[in-house]
Amino acid sequence: MFEIAIDRDACDGIFACLARDGRFVEDDDGLATIDPDAAGVVRVERSDERVVALLEGDAEADDDATLAARACPPGAISVREVDA
Ligand code: SF4
Repeated sequence: MFEIAIDRDACDGIFACLARDGRFVEDDDGLATIDPDAAGVVRVERSDERVVALLEGDAEADDDATLAARACPPGAISVREVDA
């Protein structure tokens, strides 16, 4: 399992992430979030500060998430392994 976290304070809606990973979508505030219905997404939790999505699989093998994190200009995306 792995986690994708988006710092909503840092996100400024550039949407470079959407072009790299189809699980990223725009939310109703014009910021990035993760589509809870996308394949492999177990759950998505959102607060004012952060979006945290839990996904099936291996962070290192998930090239799309890694590319999205690298493409984010303010560095708002983090990807890390978590225990199931
Ligand atoms: S690329 Fe970064 S700043 Fe742009 S929408 Fe995605 S998370 Fe937000």
